[in-house]
Amino acid sequence: MALYPQLILDALKHVRYPGNGVDIVTAGMVDDNIRIEGNKVSFSLLLDKPNDPFAKSLVKASEQAILTYVGKEVDIVGNIGINYKTQLPPQPEKLLPQVKNIIAVSSGKGGVGKSTVSSNLAVALANEGYKVGLLDADIFGPSVPKMFGLEDARPYLEPVEGRELIRPEEKYGVKMLSIGFFVDPNNAVLWRGGMASNALKQLISDANWGELDFFIVDLPPGTSDIHLTMVQTVAITGAIVVSTPQEVALADARKGISMFMGEKVNVPILGLVENMAWFTPAELPNNKYYLFGKEGCKRLAEELNIPLLGQIPIVQSICEGGDNGEPVACNPDSITGQAFAELARKVARQVEIRNETLPETKKVDVKRG
Ligand code: ADP
Repeated sequence: MALYPQLILDALKHVRYPGNGVDIVTAGMVDDNIRIEGNKVSFSLLLDKPNDPFAKSLVKASEQAILTYVGKEVDIVGNIGINYKTQLPPQPEKLLPQVKNIIAVSSGKGGVGKSTVSSNLAVALANEGYKVGLLDADIFGPSVPKMFGLEDARPYLEPVEGRELIRPEEKYGVKMLSIGFFVDPNNAVLWRGGMASNALKQLISDANWGELDFFIVDLPPGTSDIHLTMVQTVAITGAIVVSTPQEVALADARKGISMFMGEKVNVPILGLVENMAWFTPAELPNNKYYLFGKEGCKRLAEELNIPLLGQIPIVQSICEGGDNGEPVACNPDSITGQAFAELARKVARQVEIRNETLPETKKVDVKRG
């Protein structure tokens, strides 16, 4: 009897996946590529997980079904493959269609300067002529209001095409929203995960962000539900991870990077920022003291083959700028302002490089708006 793929499929229809009782052909678990050479048949069963407990028994049952329904003279090779179609992360519906690039800023640990970098990066990109938005998604410790001197701001609603939308605050050329504008920051810590995620979604979808070249999202430290909410809510262009050069911070940064690169999140890493890279006292401007170790992020970036986007020293003005509501990037001629301007240019460049590798239809123009 001549063998042909449909014959094999008909036989495999008799095998049911024990997990849901559906036959494996209908469940899409049989790879289209059934190979037949003479009386040798090889086929692959596609499973969602490599360690599926039914894997071996399914192959056996499939081989048995082919022997039973096709014929005893058939020589069979059954394999297990992974169903990559079901491995892809859910495609977020395209919220923020007028936003060209969404950049997540994250860190492994708290206190390494993630919000400082987010705020200064946003201002520095605005100084470069881009249209910039900043979302403070560090829902458990929102610091953007303080860093921009907007602790008392209470954004109001405005009608836009028949909807009432939250109007982002605007300062130093950056449109911004923070949960800190709506709740007492001291109470934010008590939020349950679901509430925090919903509040964040609202700040994204019910706000009048308008057209933006860059939307910077200051994420909470570590790996939280908020990270998952963000990747499921918007299409993130890439992530920036901030760390100090200290070993304990780097270990957590590494975890953060692998979360972004993992299947569940699957966001490209634009690069690492080394914050608090060294300290230079004002009276000894040529001296560099490596308080948290030397070039730890540089080494990590090299090891993981990701770009090092910048090294920001410990400077009193950076801390004061954060406390006084005027990020140092507002003064692009200062040394620290220049460091953030350089960072902004590198980030824009990385986004361009990334876009160049995308198919034509997905390319985004990052030229100044
Ligand atoms: P995170 O968002 O990671 O928790 P922050 O950005 O709030 O960290 O920074 C923690 C503290 O360190 C803030 O007081 C900030 O002003 C200060 N800081 C951050 N980076 C620097 C720096 N490069 N030089 C001086 N102070 C810094």
